[in-house]
Amino acid sequence: MKDTFNREINYLRVSVTDRCDLRCVYCMKENMKFLPKSEILTSEEINNICSAFIKLGIKKIRITGGEPLIKKGMPMILEYLGKKLKNSNLEELTLTTNGTQLYKYAEMIKKNGIKRINVSLDSLNPAKYLKITRGGNLEQVLEGLNIAKKIGLKIKINTVALKNTNINEMEELVKWCINKEFDITFIEVMPMDMENSIRLKQYYPLTKIKSFLEKKFTLINTNINTGGPSKYSKIKYCNRKIGFITPLSNNFCESCNRVRLTCTGKIYSCLGHNKFIDLKKALGKNKKELKNLILKSVLLKPKSHEFEINKENKDENLERTMNVTGG
Ligand code: SAM
Ligand code: SF4
Repeated sequence: MKDTFNREINYLRVSVTDRCDLRCVYCMKENMKFLPKSEILTSEEINNICSAFIKLGIKKIRITGGEPLIKKGMPMILEYLGKKLKNSNLEELTLTTNGTQLYKYAEMIKKNGIKRINVSLDSLNPAKYLKITRGGNLEQVLEGLNIAKKIGLKIKINTVALKNTNINEMEELVKWCINKEFDITFIEVMPMDMENSIRLKQYYPLTKIKSFLEKKFTLINTNINTGGPSKYSKIKYCNRKIGFITPLSNNFCESCNRVRLTCTGKIYSCLGHNKFIDLKKALGKNKKELKNLILKSVLLKPKSHEFEINKENKDENLERTMNVTGG
């Protein structure tokens, strides 16, 4: 599939649920209200939509959420898509998780053809981790990571840089990842569904983190391009990478290859835009209607995103939350 700017769209990110067992301060409100269950796609609907996308040329699917591993039908989805790795043009299946359920599901993930996973971890200090996630148990995540590593899953840690919170841990996190043979990606806070005043308190530019880490490690810039907002550096003397996701200060849109399916069945062709196509109305009808809606959604893809943390404190940010759209 090509969009109107001639970009090849071959990557689908799927939010399978808006629910989560954590309440990270940058992602959800403490008293988060989740959508009615009736609005959330069933596992079967997710499989059908993914299948239609694969037929149209999607080669890579990332499962995300919310927390995908707390969805009851997750084993069924992974089994279905795992088979697609063998009998369709799907080349890669990956997963982003907060890691709390990894100790239970690492084996199941591996068994279904997933080779690498992203695990979100913003602190190695149990008390701080608990505070950032509003209730998370660091030990449980570390146990899951150890099991996943042991069975051969490749792991990338995702760390959101939060002003006055975890900035002082960056060197330790990188050293820990080198030691564990994990890659790491730092992420700038994205302005979704929260007042600008909160975002301004959280936002810390990754340019500063990169400059700091360059003093501690020898970083070699690479031109690795995954079609997304990550820029990668290699760490000299070890085989590890550090990624920097800077959607606000870096325009990555030119090479963007992805669209997103929300847990409610909407296709957003850009994380930073409010236009969408609702696929739910085509479900259960003929396959042609679903196919046409998917093609239409790709044509809606804008040239670039509209993220901005607005210094004048105008609350014009996207009304969607990351857990519904999928981070
Ligand atoms: N629950 C899973 C997890 O935490 O990995 C998957 C969903 S989560 C929405 C996906 C990623 O989005 C996580 O790495 C999280 O840190 C990141 N994220 C969530 N809200 C964000 C925000 N406002 N700005 C930047 N990253 C965010
Ligand atoms: Fe849950 Fe992931 Fe959002 Fe944290 S970032 S609240 S783990 S969905």
